[in-house]
Amino acid sequence: MSLLENSVSTLKGVGPKRAETLQSLGIQTIYDLLTYYPFRYDDIQEKMLDDIQDQEKVVLKGTVLAEPVVSYYGFKKSRLVFRMMTEQAVINVTFFNQPFLKSKINASEEVAIYGKWDGRRKALTGMKILATQDEQEDFSPIYHVNKQIKQKTLVDLIRNAWELHGVEMEENLPEWLLEKYRLMPKVKAAYAMHFPEDIEENRLARRRLAFEEFFLFQMKMIQLKKQETSKEVGKAILYDVHKLKEFIQTLPFELTNAQKRVVNEICADLRSEDHMHRLLQGDVGSGKTIVAAIALYAVVSVGYQGALMVPTEILAEQHMESLLGLFDPLEVNVALLTSSTKQAERRRILAELESGELDILVGTHSLIQEEVQFKKVGLVITDEQHRFGVNQRKLLREKGDNPDVLFMTATPIPRTLAITAYGEMDVSVIDELPAGRIPIETRWILPKQIDSVLTWMTKQLQKGQQAYVICPLIEESEMLDVKNATEIYEHLQQFFEPNFKVGLLHGKMKSQEKDSIMNEFKENNMQVLVSTTVIEVGVNVPNASMMMIMDADRFGLAQLHQLRGRVGRGSIASYCILVASPKSDQGKERMKIMTETTDGFVLSEKDLEMRGPGDFFGSKQSGIPEFKVGDMVADAPILETARLEAIALWNEKNWEEEPKNAVLVRSLEKRNKQSEFLD
Ligand code: ADP
Ligand code: MG
Repeated sequence: MSLLENSVSTLKGVGPKRAETLQSLGIQTIYDLLTYYPFRYDDIQEKMLDDIQDQEKVVLKGTVLAEPVVSYYGFKKSRLVFRMMTEQAVINVTFFNQPFLKSKINASEEVAIYGKWDGRRKALTGMKILATQDEQEDFSPIYHVNKQIKQKTLVDLIRNAWELHGVEMEENLPEWLLEKYRLMPKVKAAYAMHFPEDIEENRLARRRLAFEEFFLFQMKMIQLKKQETSKEVGKAILYDVHKLKEFIQTLPFELTNAQKRVVNEICADLRSEDHMHRLLQGDVGSGKTIVAAIALYAVVSVGYQGALMVPTEILAEQHMESLLGLFDPLEVNVALLTSSTKQAERRRILAELESGELDILVGTHSLIQEEVQFKKVGLVITDEQHRFGVNQRKLLREKGDNPDVLFMTATPIPRTLAITAYGEMDVSVIDELPAGRIPIETRWILPKQIDSVLTWMTKQLQKGQQAYVICPLIEESEMLDVKNATEIYEHLQQFFEPNFKVGLLHGKMKSQEKDSIMNEFKENNMQVLVSTTVIEVGVNVPNASMMMIMDADRFGLAQLHQLRGRVGRGSIASYCILVASPKSDQGKERMKIMTETTDGFVLSEKDLEMRGPGDFFGSKQSGIPEFKVGDMVADAPILETARLEAIALWNEKNWEEEPKNAVLVRSLEKRNKQSEFLD
């Protein structure tokens, strides 16, 4: 065992207390400390004021013109203001609620301030004073720290650890790979992350470490994929081709070419001895349900059972209904199991499932509970699968005797995310909508224009159409969402009733309540449905041709696209009205893009670009790995190169035995023990 795996508490100056603090930063071993990289660098390269974006965070240097003035207002609130002369201009600098900084800012002295640039006022809102000029290097690393430890203390610890133990750090990539891509050796790169000679060296260090992370990750993903799809866990389901063709003939429409293609891909997986582990991507309305039904029917045709799992009850019921319709002329036994299924019914379903009488079970998460036992399950499908984490995906596969698994999602996933978050799967894409769809027309309006929209809406309602009104998403609190939605609901009731009925749907309602509201809307007993984002997933009411989204700039592009997909499901022209007065340029840009394209893939790429991978799925449980150095968006080319290298290597026969790969095999084994990608 390498000394680097020793606890940091073996270092001088790290007592129990400090060790605890370090642990709270995720630092346990000496290796962790050596590789606790800065999250950014203060780059004091002077920027031309005109080149700084509004709200951009920058460091500005200059001379303090006169003592700062502090003024107090409200409870414990203060404002510290002074004028600073930079090389280009005199600007105002303001610090809020840090009056004590006054003693650090002296007239005619040089200072460097880190803060946010206000482009309109040509002023800086200070966040931090950086060390004085002579200590300040042009390029200094900034670490994530907490209240218990200061930047400087941490840097000193890191520096000491490097001096004592740096030499022990081992290379973990093979020599041939380093040479091929001119990558810096590991030790040099790790050191240059903390203490770079200059920006260029730091850039090369980042490049090397990002490559390493992506490459090792991809190696692991391919290994996982090989396990997931191996013959040992798979089975050949030799479905009845004849019956399947007949079934497809009975469908009320011809499959699109894309649907035909993915049906073939899925059927090939079923037939093959390898285990199916496939992701099916298709934009809202592209017709994934039919594909699922065909696949389920295939396994049922030879006596296997199938399951369809979805995240919400509304969606489960809807799928149940669709399947009943599609299987109507056939002898297929389908049941629905959710948390609101009555006890007696539930017992009956579970018994039939075990005896094999039941062919297909549709339901929510209840399907992965212990007591749900299939007799002979051949295929499990999940819809809107990005809501399930990696572990839930695993549980699902382990249900019964390793059924084939198909994950469906309507969130078009940008390529870089797909190969990281879902790298262990095969991917099928439905990239074509059924013919005859009229594209949804999207308009962006300001809140003050709402009245004219409501008037227009009234006219459409009179023609027999229906509308959704989606209320803003307030991240901090579901209660606030509800309050907001309730207000809008009451307002619209006053406007539309008694001519048209208005309903309200939100996440705090009991599921029975939700269902009955949804049904009223479906049956057109209710014409306007005010809803929070619970409506997002999969809901299908073809007669609803209008959607108005309030405070639309609070949503990400991917989510707006999902929401918008609730309309445009019938043969009537549909409209989506975005109500927003975004403050940031980015918010405006998002609204504009929404009005310009309905292509989910274009939107998802943009979304990823603008918001970064962390926020992409709008939830923590996304299965997206976190990289220390690599940035999936900015470093996409490195990711791609690393992926191709990993694939090429796995394709080499017995690569694991080659001496030239020994270093790599060892580092992968180490990582396996840590198993850091699975949670
Ligand atoms: P999604 O991919 O969003 O789950 P659905 O499966 O709900 O889409 O299909 C959306 C609508 O399109 C449904 O009403 C469905 O009957 C219809 N549909 C599916 N495939 C076709 C097709 N090939 N031609 C015409 N309509 C289709
Ligand atoms: Mg669907």
